[in-house]
Amino acid sequence: MGNSYGWMGNIVRINLSTGEIQTQSTADLAERFIGGRGFISKIYWDEVDAKKDALHPDSPLLFMTGPLAGTPAIAGNRWFIAGKSPLLYPDQFGLGSVGGSFGAKLESAGYDGIIITGKASKPVYVYLHDGTVEIKDAQGLWGLETFETLHRLNKAHGETSGAVCIGPAGEKLVRLAVAMSDHGACGGSGFGAVMGSKNIKAVVAAGSLKVPVARPDDLKAVNTRIRSLIEGKILMDPNVEGIELVRRTPCPGCPSGCPRGLYKHVSGREEVRKNCQSVYMYYLWDMKYHGGESTADPFLATSLANRYGLCTQEMGNLLYLLEACVKQGIVTDASAGIALSQMGSLEFIERLTDMVISRHGIGEVLAEGTMRAAHALGNGAVKFLEKRMTRSGFNAEAYNPRYFITNAVFYATESTSTMNQLHEVCFPIMKWVMWYATDGAMSPFSTEVMLRIAKKFWISEKAVDFSTYEGKADVAYVIQNREYAKENLVVCDFFYPLTTADGAEDHTGDPALESRLLSAVTGIEFDEAGYYKTGERVFNLQRAIQSIEGRAGRKDDRVNEFYFTDKMEEEAGFLGVFNPDFMLPGPSGELISRKGAVLERDRFEKMMDEYYARRGWEVKTGLQKKDTLETLGLAEIAATLRAKGFLAE
Ligand code: SF4
Repeated sequence: MGNSYGWMGNIVRINLSTGEIQTQSTADLAERFIGGRGFISKIYWDEVDAKKDALHPDSPLLFMTGPLAGTPAIAGNRWFIAGKSPLLYPDQFGLGSVGGSFGAKLESAGYDGIIITGKASKPVYVYLHDGTVEIKDAQGLWGLETFETLHRLNKAHGETSGAVCIGPAGEKLVRLAVAMSDHGACGGSGFGAVMGSKNIKAVVAAGSLKVPVARPDDLKAVNTRIRSLIEGKILMDPNVEGIELVRRTPCPGCPSGCPRGLYKHVSGREEVRKNCQSVYMYYLWDMKYHGGESTADPFLATSLANRYGLCTQEMGNLLYLLEACVKQGIVTDASAGIALSQMGSLEFIERLTDMVISRHGIGEVLAEGTMRAAHALGNGAVKFLEKRMTRSGFNAEAYNPRYFITNAVFYATESTSTMNQLHEVCFPIMKWVMWYATDGAMSPFSTEVMLRIAKKFWISEKAVDFSTYEGKADVAYVIQNREYAKENLVVCDFFYPLTTADGAEDHTGDPALESRLLSAVTGIEFDEAGYYKTGERVFNLQRAIQSIEGRAGRKDDRVNEFYFTDKMEEEAGFLGVFNPDFMLPGPSGELISRKGAVLERDRFEKMMDEYYARRGWEVKTGLQKKDTLETLGLAEIAATLRAKGFLAE
């Protein structure tokens, strides 16, 4: 970017095999790729060997912040853990978004990111502080649960330190292992196992260095505007038994855009929770086991996963697979080594967790993650996942395309998490559902507000006509570019884009906030269009990575078949409970129902035609074009794609 505002200026490279430590200038990447996902994608493109698996010592593990981390910008302290994911199927590019304080601590230690390669000969942790890096002995920490590890590291390095660590799951290379940090923050996609494969128990950051901000007064003004827009925001706490809120525990620098808080369980255990899928990991099975009544056990089930360092989303997937396999007789008590009829009890999840960590009995198979477990179990087990997961192992149920047509483009074109793109469509709609279900008593976000939001954020009112495919390719294009720009900036998905605004008179938010934050911090003027262009650039780089990794063009832009064949009859979670008839705004704001809807194949294909054209890709093949890549400043990518046969002729 030609200056150092927004950055400490250094990305550190650590080779754990040789102990070599080097730094590279952040500025080399910042000009084109801004930060976060942009940096990760470029490093991945340049350095990851497509033939080496995720747990190979040469596969780099990346920790990356964005230009707002460590500055007073609201909700800008998130960061990514990334590299080749051992959880996605097959191993491929992946990343996990993490909250808490570690991103800001990394900046105050003097670094914008970390690239770790190699494998230490014994357990170690990395300690970064005030511009120095040490590789320290972690043998005394190996085997400890996550919270205990974080506690000990915090004690050893002082209250101002921040850490990210693995639990026993990561040490045992369980593919669904997460990296856990403070404030209950964790990063998924299996990077806990990648840490374990490198013999690295934790990374600790501490220091007192400050990220320079180019225009502090402008930053203050944007923050003030954001605070005014979220005034009066209603936070919905998790709806589970046996817990009470002790206090809100927002990530540092966030005036709380989500109900993250410290909750106390009836057992006396206190842990941070946010009202998201992690809270409900065991909820369904707990209800089934207890005759339709939920108990206080799901909190403890999630707690177990957190302590051992397991992904709650993936644990839910494993339970789903196991239940289906039991029903079909593919797995029995004898073959599994556990009483499967007890699924839903606390004892069951305790035992199963233990088996996964120790790779005992069925745990040996399950430790490989749901997709690999289904393939290993054979007997058609993969088929059971058709309605639960995409073919790369990502959740296929969330905000599905039969309900929200635009989302079909996201599911078709992404092999890793599409969650933030889905959220941009569905977070505002969840508020509309609340308005619809309570006749406006619990939410001001009426159909009229949705139409205004659509014009401001998604080109035209057509975006919230959920009856038609018309205009949806354009909406998908806009949303993907914005969401990739957001991931370059690394701001919180629960906060941005601020589409709905409780504190605004017309209840609509402001799409210019992110570009204004970026401009204020870096001192480089980004208008909205310029900011979105950075997202489009990285989206195209990501598309190129997918091609190299074996998912090239239109033939691979597929969605799960059941969207075309099975009518939309039920939906789990909030949308199903509060909107059982799947009502949505339709033409000119009139209400329509999506009950019984399917994704229509010919219209889906036509939407994809429009989408490829909008992206400047070849419509027939969905392959990228040289001109488009060059216009986006990605000429070197075009050359490699051409050499490998993945560029349109
Ligand atoms: S909205 Fe929630 S997750 Fe996001 S930065 Fe704020 S407290 Fe953290």
